[in-house]
Amino acid sequence: MITWVEYHRNRYQNESIAMYHALSNEKHQLQVEIKKGTFLETELSLMAQIDGLTGVYNRRSFWDIAHKEIERAKRYHIPLSIALIDIDNFKSINDTYGHPAGDSVLKTLSSHCLKTIRGSAIFARIGGEEFAFLFLHVTPENVVDKMESLRKEIEELSMNYEHQTISCTVSIGIVSMKEQTETLETLYQKADTCLYQAKHKGRNSIYVSASSR
Ligand code: GH3
Ligand code: MG
Ligand code: MG
Repeated sequence: MITWVEYHRNRYQNESIAMYHALSNEKHQLQVEIKKGTFLETELSLMAQIDGLTGVYNRRSFWDIAHKEIERAKRYHIPLSIALIDIDNFKSINDTYGHPAGDSVLKTLSSHCLKTIRGSAIFARIGGEEFAFLFLHVTPENVVDKMESLRKEIEELSMNYEHQTISCTVSIGIVSMKEQTETLETLYQKADTCLYQAKHKGRNSIYVSASSR
C-alpha cells in the first residue's frame, strides 16, 4: 500500500520528468531556429553580393573588392587592370528574340567569361549588359591578349535559346594602373572612356587606355 508521502513524491517526480522533456524539446527547437537564423543570415549576405540573374558578383561586390585590391596593389606594387565589357547592340537582341532570350545571352556570356579567366580575375556584372574584370598579378600586355582572345571567342559563340541560335559581339575598354595617385574612380572612368572609344571604332573591338600602353 502506497503512503501519502510516496504518492506525492511519485507525482512530483513524474511532473519533473515531464517538465524536463518539455524543456529539452524546447531547447532543441530553439537550437534549430538559431541554426536556421544563422543560415538565413549567411544566405542573405551572399545574396547581397551576387547578381540574381547570372550568379556572378554584382556591382557592389566589385566596388568593395576593387577598392581593397587597389590599395593592396599600390602597397605591394602588384600589376592591376580593369576591363569593362559591354554587349554590342543588345537592345536589338531583345527586340529580335525577346527579353527572356536576352536574359539567356547574359547568363551564357557570364559563364563563358568566368570559365575563360579561370581565377585570374574578379568578374562582375556591373548592370544591364555591362560586365567588369579586375585583373591582379597579370601584366598589362597579358590582359590585352586575354581580352582580345575573349572578344574573338564571344564573336564565334553560338548561344542556343529555344531552338534559336543567337550570337553577339562585345566592346571592351581596358586600363592598367600606372600611378600611385590612381583611385578606383579614376581607373573606372578611364576604362569607361576606353569602352566608349571601342564602340566609336565600330564595336566588336577593344580599346586600351593611352596611360596603360
Ligand atoms: P551599344 O552597342 O551602344 O551598347 O547598344 P546597346 O543596345 O547594347 O545599348 P543600350 O544601352 O541602348 O541598350 C541596352 C539594353 O539592355 C536595353 C535594356 O533593355 C537591356 N537590358 C538591361 N538589362 C537587361 C536584362 O537584365 N535582361 C535583358 N534581357 N535585357 C536587359
Ligand atoms: Mg550595349
Ligand atoms: Mg551598356
